[in-house]
This record gives sequence, structure tokens and C-alpha cells, in this order.
Amino acid sequence: MYQVLQPFPLHTKFIDLLLSEYEDILVIEETTAVIEMQLADRYRVKGKLNRVVPRVGELLPEKIQQYVANFAGVETKINSLPSVPGRRPTLCAGCLHRASFFAIKKAVRYSRDNGPAVVIARHPCIIDSARRGELIKRADVNVNEDCDGCGFCLQNFECPAMVMDQEVEQMCIDPFVCTSCGVCLNICPRGAIIEKI
Ligand code: SF4
Ligand code: SF4
Repeated sequence: MYQVLQPFPLHTKFIDLLLSEYEDILVIEETTAVIEMQLADRYRVKGKLNRVVPRVGELLPEKIQQYVANFAGVETKINSLPSVPGRRPTLCAGCLHRASFFAIKKAVRYSRDNGPAVVIARHPCIIDSARRGELIKRADVNVNEDCDGCGFCLQNFECPAMVMDQEVEQMCIDPFVCTSCGVCLNICPRGAIIEKI
């Protein structure tokens, strides 16, 4: 087994060595098949491009164990790690994609009962705006006493800066994690997330 530390560009000597020394090569890599694409021998190289490794989904240790065993033609006993309690993986605090996903999920929920729904973006892509040197509006946010701790924001918006204060049963914002992106300002059904004055 070999861990490739520099996926691109692969050293040509490394490619020559692999192809001259090994009859079959299994490439396991997350996301795009960058390494596999540089190993041009389609019959000997197995991975995402010929679907020996699935193109979607996370490459969890137990999955990798199974792919390696299949490749080697041996039986293996998979011992999945117990799941760790806590939040599921989510976008970083301040990621503006969160607002888009929230709007799309809302539209999907609406359309299940009411027919077609439309999402209209009020602003162009924020990255494009930043490239053009336009100022990106930021807002310090706070949670007021209208919060009843329903958890809607935590379950549906999932910003890591949002924390449930169990003592007062209200959501609060962790100032060390919050980036003041301000995109959560319109999501609380009770209007409890407000801009700090
Ligand atoms: S901020 Fe709003 S959505 Fe979040 S827990 Fe409080 S009331 Fe519910
Ligand atoms: S402003 Fe709201 S969405 Fe943005 S990082 Fe802070 S809590 Fe999260």
C-alpha cells in the first residue's frame, strides 16, 4: 500500500514504476479521481472511473477495508466503529451556502404539499461580488427572549455557532465560533434571532 502525498502532478517516474511493477492497481481517493486520471492504463487501474470504487459517498474506513479485500480477493470481517454522539458534519460557521441550502430545503418542503416552488436569489454569488471588490454586509447577531428553545434553527440551519443553552432552554450564539455572516437573521419562525445594535 502506498499513500500518495502529492496527488497532482504525479511524478512520471512513480507512474512508470507502478505500471511496470504491478499487474493491478487499486486507487482509493476522496472526491475527484485525480490520481486515477493520471494513470492512463484503464485495464489495470481500478478506482472511481471504472466504478470499482463508488463515485459518491464518504470513503469510511470500513468501506475502504471492503474495497481492498475485494481487490485482493480475500474475505474480511468488517468491524464498524461505534458512532460518536454529537452533531453530524455540517458546513462551517459563516458559510453562505448554508442560506442557499436552507432556502432550497424550504422550497422542497413547500412543494410537497402545494406544488411548484421557486427560489429567487436576491444577490449574485457572494464570491463573485467579493472578486468585484463589492462590500459584503456583515451583522453581529443575538438571540432575544422570544426564543422558546424549539430547536428549529439547530435542526434545519445547523450553524456550528448555534448552541442550545440547556439551563435557560434557549438557543444562544457562541461568539467564538460566529463569523457575523448574518445569514441566520431571517430563519427563526419567532423572529428571535436579531441584529445586535
Ligand atoms: S432561535 Fe428561534 S428557531 Fe432557534 S430555538 Fe429559538 S425560537 Fe427556535
Ligand atoms: S451570524 Fe448566524 S449563521 Fe452566521 S456564523 Fe453567526 S450564528 Fe452562524
